[in-house]
Amino acid sequence: MKILVINAGSSSIKYALFKFPSTKCLLKGTVEKIGEKNSLHHYSLKEQHQQKQILAIDNHQQALKLIVETLAEIKLSLNQLDAIAHRVVHGGEIFQQPTVINAKRIEQLKQLIPLAPLHNPANILGIETAIKLAPTIKQIAIFDTAFHHTLPEHAARYPIPDNWYQQNIRRYGFHGTSHAYVAKQTAKMLDKPLKKLNLISLHLGNGASACAIQQGASIDTSMGFTPQEGLMMGTRCGDIDSSVYPYLAEQSQLPVSEINRLLNQESGLKGIAGTNDMREIHTLIAKGDEKAKLAFNMCCYRIKKYIGAYYAALGRLDALIFTGGIGENDEKLRAKCCHHLENLGLLIHPKKNQAANGKTRFIHHNHQKIAILVVKTDEELEIAQQAIELLSS
Ligand code: ADP
Repeated sequence: MKILVINAGSSSIKYALFKFPSTKCLLKGTVEKIGEKNSLHHYSLKEQHQQKQILAIDNHQQALKLIVETLAEIKLSLNQLDAIAHRVVHGGEIFQQPTVINAKRIEQLKQLIPLAPLHNPANILGIETAIKLAPTIKQIAIFDTAFHHTLPEHAARYPIPDNWYQQNIRRYGFHGTSHAYVAKQTAKMLDKPLKKLNLISLHLGNGASACAIQQGASIDTSMGFTPQEGLMMGTRCGDIDSSVYPYLAEQSQLPVSEINRLLNQESGLKGIAGTNDMREIHTLIAKGDEKAKLAFNMCCYRIKKYIGAYYAALGRLDALIFTGGIGENDEKLRAKCCHHLENLGLLIHPKKNQAANGKTRFIHHNHQKIAILVVKTDEELEIAQQAIELLSS
């Protein structure tokens, strides 16, 4: 079986083609800067030949046509696919499972746009364009929020006026496909059924979130109503006193939209250190830059607090997982987040922790009961696998 995964953003489309049951990735690529004159298309066939094209791609339709042409390079047409699986960021309370898309579902997805105005419109555009190009092929939506539908009410609700909940104001959580994927990989590494494991998963990329997983199900996660809540991120501030909003609005006369932009796009690591790139932060720290050092320390401190909180929420912990661009590659950050946690049973082995190109591996001391792992995430593969499960159910 062959599944094409599409992750459509406002100006980019990431895609990957998987063959099952081998799970082999036959093609992976990205079309970037859609709508600009110098759009970029880079892709690799069978994890080998890297190709790069610079051309003008006006819209998502043209971008998808380019992807179809690339499929032709491996002698495949859209009609030979078993399904196209689309990443959709927000499924609200309606979509808690992978879902085959039809006209009614598209309408329901559109109703969710106010919950994710930056992401869902692009995801829907990707779906609608794919339907036009391949009307006979099943289109399946996989939701970032779905893994967290198991959050108990006490974790999902905000302590705010009760009727606000009727307006959908609650915690949803994101990065669900990544947390689900690394949890399954961890169960394989530990050779135990996922249903018996309690895990803390730390997805640390440009966006970052922690997830408490009890007996295989998400019971809490740091992102909430939007991806803004929780950990300090590349450009998002994460947890903050909500009174900062009215204070800034009154004192600086800034409109709410601008305050929101500043807290989402100019805060986090970037707000403190001037860059959201963790590698640059390490370069700056090596040069003695105090702001970069502060940003790193704040980031680690906030992750550590969530490790403690989720350990308490779970009661028993089997493994702590680091994933995402930072989680997979930054040994200094991993070491600092776990510093002095040996009394909790969390002790990193310095040699095992050393960078190994983000390879999936254990990094804890052998004699510790709680495993610590680096797991290379693969959201596209998880999306394809969930689509396959739906098709075979
Ligand atoms: P996104 O959320 O955009 O998918 P990624 O998961 O690719 O982001 O993570 C991007 C982050 O990973 C950046 O801050 C980048 O600096 C960081 N990163 C990548 N490689 C390393 C490395 N070797 N050491 C430290 N940080 C790294």
